[in-house]
Amino acid sequence: MNIGTYSYEEYVHLVKSFHGSPAPGLLIGGFIVDLALKNLPDGEFFDALCETPVCLPDAVQLLTPCTIGNGWMKILDFGKFAVTLYEKSGGEGVRVYLDAEKLKRWPEVMNWFLKLKTKKEQDSDLLIEQIKEAGHDLLGIQHVRVEPEKLRRRKMGQVSVCPSCGEAYPVKDGDRCRACLGESPYVRE
Ligand SMILES: [Zn+2]
Repeated sequence: MNIGTYSYEEYVHLVKSFHGSPAPGLLIGGFIVDLALKNLPDGEFFDALCETPVCLPDAVQLLTPCTIGNGWMKILDFGKFAVTLYEKSGGEGVRVYLDAEKLKRWPEVMNWFLKLKTKKEQDSDLLIEQIKEAGHDLLGIQHVRVEPEKLRRRKMGQVSVCPSCGEAYPVKDGDRCRACLGESPYVRE
């Protein structure tokens, strides 16, 4: 059983060093990305789309050349456990998702995914075991077409120096940077 170009054990090791812990979501995420990779439509260059910011983006970044930084991965905050890999120009793609119907065969995975048990009540060893045993069996697959235009990263455009903080910012944001316009996350000392 492989995940991408790694053995399952190698992947778990990678996940631990990259993500900090072998999170169940990232183990399932590995199978999701693996199944998508095995069903790629024709084409040379692929982008990724994650439908949740939780866990899945890390699986994509571990197993494909698509990262947040290089712009080949987009993240939608839908809270849905699905990844799509699609051909950059035409948008032809494959979407792999965690299939709620198939969870019935894997009760501890269902308890975790649908939050039917508290974290304390969950049997984490059994959960990890069922994830490994289930593999692709938890997943559904769809052929989709995305509109690449909709997902294209917006260009930064013209740049200016903010009169309040003196740092460069995109002019389209207004007469000063977004931080100085009130969106700063930092507490003012
Ligand atoms: Zn500023």
